[in-house]
Parts: sequence; C-alpha cells; structure tokens
Amino acid sequence: MHSTEHPETMWGLGLDQASAAFIETAAGPGYALRNLPTDAAAWMRGSEGRTQAAWVPWDVWTSLPKSRRQASIKDDGVRRILLLDEEAELLETEQVLAEGFVTAVRAPLTRFKVRDALLRLREMESLTADLRRKTEEITLERELLVRKSNHLSFLNRVLSRATASLDPATILSKARSDLRFLLPLTALGAAFWTRSDSDPGISAELYMPCLLYPPESEEWQQTLIEGAEQKAGAKVSEYRQVCLTPERNRKPVPGPSAGRMVLLPLSVGGESFGFLALMTDKGLRLARDQVQTLNACVNHLALALRNAFLYRQVKIQADRDGLTKIGNRRSFEERLSSEVARHGRYDQPLSLILVDLDHFKTVNDTHGHPVGDEVLRDMALLLGEGLRGSDYPARYGGEEFVVILPHTSREQAALLAERLRQRVAERVFRTGAKAGLRITVSAGVASLAPGGTPQDLVFLADQALYVAKNSGRNRVVLAEAQGLPRPGEDLAANLDERLDEGLDKDLAAGLDKGQAAGRVDGQGNVLDRAAS
Ligand code: GH3
Ligand code: MG
Ligand code: MG
Repeated sequence: MHSTEHPETMWGLGLDQASAAFIETAAGPGYALRNLPTDAAAWMRGSEGRTQAAWVPWDVWTSLPKSRRQASIKDDGVRRILLLDEEAELLETEQVLAEGFVTAVRAPLTRFKVRDALLRLREMESLTADLRRKTEEITLERELLVRKSNHLSFLNRVLSRATASLDPATILSKARSDLRFLLPLTALGAAFWTRSDSDPGISAELYMPCLLYPPESEEWQQTLIEGAEQKAGAKVSEYRQVCLTPERNRKPVPGPSAGRMVLLPLSVGGESFGFLALMTDKGLRLARDQVQTLNACVNHLALALRNAFLYRQVKIQADRDGLTKIGNRRSFEERLSSEVARHGRYDQPLSLILVDLDHFKTVNDTHGHPVGDEVLRDMALLLGEGLRGSDYPARYGGEEFVVILPHTSREQAALLAERLRQRVAERVFRTGAKAGLRITVSAGVASLAPGGTPQDLVFLADQALYVAKNSGRNRVVLAEAQGLPRPGEDLAANLDERLDEGLDKDLAAGLDKGQAAGRVDGQGNVLDRAAS
C-alpha cells in the first residue's frame, strides 16, 4: 500500500523516544515518524493533498496553550490520534471528538493498536472523500434543478403573456421582450401565410421590427418573404406589412445581414403557418437546454398565434355580410357607437349616408332573386369606391346600405352621396339580365349634432331618406343640421339643383366659414376631405 521508497510522514508531538520508535516500527515500512517538541515553531502539516497521522499524548495536548490547541483543531492537514496513559481516566468519546481527535489509543501500545488506529484513519479518510463527492453531486443537482425551475417559470411566463392577447402584433412584441431572458436578441420579426383555393401562391403577413430605415427595411422584407416562400413551398402572391411596437431604446434596427438570423417554424397540429425570425449576434451559440427551452417557447407561441389568427378570422366573418362581404348591421352599429363616442371626445364632424335602392322589388320580380343578389353585390362595390380607410360602408339590411364618414361634414357627405347616386344612375348592371339593367338609389345624409346619440344620427338620415323617396326617388336629401327635414319643403330638389350645377363650388360657397369642401378630381373622386 505504501511504498518504502517514499514513506509517508507521520507526526508525533512531544512523544517520548520509546513511544516514537515503537509507533514508527509498528506502523511498518510505509511510514516515517517526525516527532516535534511541544514548543516547535514549525507545526504539523499535511502535504501533497494527503492528510497525515499525528500522534499526541493527552498530557502533552492539555499542556498546550488553548489558542494553539484551537489553531490545531482547525488545521485540516493532519488527523490526530490521542495517546492515553494506562492510568488515565477514561475519556468520553464526545470529548475526544470535540478536541479534534479521530481516535484514541491506550497504553501499553501494541503493534495491533497502532495499525488499527492508522487503518481507522484511512477509513475515515475515504469516508470523508465519499461525503465530499456526494455533497458536490447534490450541489450540482440542486443547480440543475434551479435552472430547470427557472426555465419552467420562464416558459410559464411566455405562455401566460402570449395567451393574454388575441392580437398577433402584441403577442410578438411581448415574446420579443420575454425571449431576451433566454438569448440576446437584436431584433425579432415574423411572417405568416394563408393559402386559398383560387390562388396557387400564398398571401403573407410580414411582421417587421419597428424603426427600420429604407435599406434595412427592404432587407428585412426580403428575408421574411424568402423565408415564407421557402417554408411554405409557394410563391408569395400578395403581402401586407405590420410594424411591431418600437423597442424601448428606440434604436434603429440593423438589417438581417448585420447579425445571425434564425428562422423558427411555427406550426400547430403538423400544419405550419409561419415562422419567427430571431436576429442575434453572429457568434452566438446556445447551450442544449437553452435550445430545448427555446423550442418549447416557440411551440407555446405557435399555439397563441394560431388562436389569435383564428379569432381574427371568426371576427371578420361575424362582422361581414354574407352576400356583399362588406360590414353587416351588427358591425355597423358597433362601429357607429365607437365613432360617436370618439366624435364627442374630439369634437370632430361625423356624418352618415343611408342609401336605399329604388323599386328594387321590381328587379327581383322581373329578373329573379339571383339577379337581385348580383345587383346588391355590385352595389356594395360601387359604395366602396372613393372612400377613405376610416370610412365604414355596411349593408344596413335588405337593399339598404349605409356609410359612416368620420371627420366629414354634412356637406362633404352630401357631395359623396351625390357622387354615388350619379355613379349608380350611370351604371348599366350587366348581371344576369341580357340587356343590362339600370337602377337608381335614394340617399339620406345626416351629421351628428353636439350631444347626439348613434340612434339620433340614424334617425335623421332615415328621415332624410324618407323625404328623398317621397319627393321622387333618385336623389340625395340632406337632413338639417339641428333637426329633421320637413316633408313638403323642397329641400331635396333644392339640394339636387345645387349638386347638378357643380356642387363643389356651390357647396363650398354655402359652407360655414373655415370649413373646406372636398376637392374632386376629373373622375369625380373626392381627393381631399380632411376635416377643417
Ligand atoms: P322603394 O323604392 O320604395 O325602396 O321600393 P323597393 O321595392 O326597393 O322597396 P321595398 O321595401 O318594397 O322592397 C325591398 C325589396 O328588396 C324587397 C326584397 O325582395 C328585396 N330584397 C331585400 N333583401 C334582398 C336580398 O338579399 N336579395 C334580393 N335579391 N332581394 C332582396
Ligand atoms: Mg328598403
Ligand atoms: Mg328600396
């Protein structure tokens, strides 16, 4: 066990010569004993990472100053074996251990006693080593557990934040800040696509980082489109761009080539519908558990995003009229309420056009319902022409349509209604009927008076429409600013005349000072209806 060439040092402290010699001999050729005087300046020390045995008689030990004893107890390098006189009182084990001794040997010394003490010391040594190893293992496992629990709470946070919203841009913006706990993200983008039976290509939505300047913005767009085409296996035939909310630091976002782009596919139930584009530092390498967490996180996000898109689809369907695909009565009422509330807040003009097809029953009676349906569809298209993004056309019911016009005065709205009336009157509806058929519309226009409700506005427009119908149809009637048009008064004809004479000039002249009438281009499109 111990080579004779390099005998292991044992220490003795104040041993008499006979004991020292006996111990060295009894221990065997693997050991050499160095006996120190009690007042030795150099003290017993372990060396080369091994603990060494030190033989100390009890009377020598108790004669040492307390400070010395305490310093020696702390010294890890040696393990002390206590030597007791034959006559010495029996010490309690606790006392022996408390004084820092590993074991005690009573005189007279025998070979067996010496060897046994050394053996115990070795056993103790290997036990200590085992214990140290186990402690290290436990510490390591604890660290792993802490990491795992951190990852789990991270995933939990991502999931709960992602499912808290049904807006894809909000979900992505939150994911961007959450993912930063996992890896240093320079920027985040995403692309989603839908397929349709009528088009072999895909229709894409590109979610771009905010604060991009032209060359970088094109680079991002290209990366997202190429990614979508590659992952969907089809050409992008149309796309829409959405900007994510800007980063808090408001720094311009670099182009994808300035870093490393990772495109992580998003799929649910085996069907992929988009990807996340993560931009990181060029040299970034992720640990295996980071990759696992990232994958789990992306799966969570895929679910939340899929839900958001489904919700949007359902909402669109619920808001659309089945025949004409424009807004339905329910969505009109919802929109009108919010516009009226906004109008009240910002004191902006808000107008409404109510349109009813003239003698539409006879169209159905003469050409059949399917032709009537076609006409209604065409009418919805005509209605949408020349409107701004903030205007809201809807089918009010049957053959009645409505347009909400925010930031639009009643005169500007009347101008629009008149343009529509003319477009319809000039149109030959080719649908179904071979010879083509002609249709006219009547319209009522009203604006919200201060403190008015949505119901007031609809009522005013409806009353104006009633007047238009009663005064011969194919005309636009403008409700009075503060009240109802009075039947019998030639309001409709009056307005009609003025419209016929070239409405922009006359209307402008008739408007209150400071209000601008819409400008109309050569094709009769309203170019500018900015609020005054
Ligand atoms: P007026 O000039 O007084 O408005 O006459 P009108 O015939 O248009 O008015 P009326 O209210 O008598 O008839 C409306 C017609 O619109 C009756 C109905 O068959 C038709 N209609 C309503 N909804 C639809 C639809 O979805 N499809 C078709 N084809 N016709 C519809
Ligand atoms: Mg009607
Ligand atoms: Mg009608």
